[in-house]
Amino acid sequence: MTAFVSPLGLPVHDLDTIQLRVLSLGAGVQSTTLALMAAHGEIGPMPDCAVFADTGWEPAAVYEHLAWLRSPNVLPFPVHVVTAGDIRADLHRAGSGERWASIPAFTRTVRGIRVEIGMIRRQCTKDYKLVPIRRKVRALAGLTRRRSPPALIVEQWIGISFDEIVRMKPSFETWQVNRWPLIEERMWRTGCLRWLERHDYPVPPKSSCAGCPFHDDDAWRWLRDNDPVAWLEAIEVDRAIRTGIRGVRGEVFLHRPAVPLDEADLATAADAGQLDLWPNECEGLCGV
Ligand code: SF4
Repeated sequence: MTAFVSPLGLPVHDLDTIQLRVLSLGAGVQSTTLALMAAHGEIGPMPDCAVFADTGWEPAAVYEHLAWLRSPNVLPFPVHVVTAGDIRADLHRAGSGERWASIPAFTRTVRGIRVEIGMIRRQCTKDYKLVPIRRKVRALAGLTRRRSPPALIVEQWIGISFDEIVRMKPSFETWQVNRWPLIEERMWRTGCLRWLERHDYPVPPKSSCAGCPFHDDDAWRWLRDNDPVAWLEAIEVDRAIRTGIRGVRGEVFLHRPAVPLDEADLATAADAGQLDLWPNECEGLCGV
């Protein structure tokens, strides 16, 4: 077996046991650039397919962009869409005390004169993205209801750019190796945008659940101004999860200062200097 290692110490292609190359497609800027660079032959070997995990609650612009990516003559490989359910409907049920796959929402707890703001441990990426993608990849690799082989037979491409290098996380599967081609190419998100522009491709929208608590104010403003339906849905979910969440003390909010979304001050570019929470999503499955 040949194991080529990049200058960053990343294992990259040339593993002669690999039988399947899968691109994890978030349909955002980075994974779109990665898919199109592969289509142009600028990164290889050509993936066998891409997989998009649908949480059921992406902004309309993401679904439109995904439909374009899946349309004839855009990508030379198929894009499979998998789902583990509708995260928005599940969040409404969570507000009624039902079991939920927790999103990284914010809690506000009052202790005497002290107000504490915390973040709920995130389980959503695993349940709505990682698990259905893994199931599909195992099916494509012929591993459904079969023992995992000891050899690396699947290479999964993840569209994290160089500016998000802290999100890299190796695969824990004995049969799968993760690869980050944009990092191998030292491509930043801005470089992806430049590449898309140079090739006359549309700028992809930010791909993440419409009401993802990782949004900074810029992303919330974008949702409010560009997708009024999803914005109202986010306000409704924000209200629905305020209390009654199983195992959570205090009030729960989607917006990080822990105020109701429809009362949040999004009018200014107040997010300048706002901490970027996306590095917390180290699987590289959301927001790319
Ligand atoms: S986009 Fe946000 S809410 Fe949706 S699965 Fe990812 S981390 Fe969870």
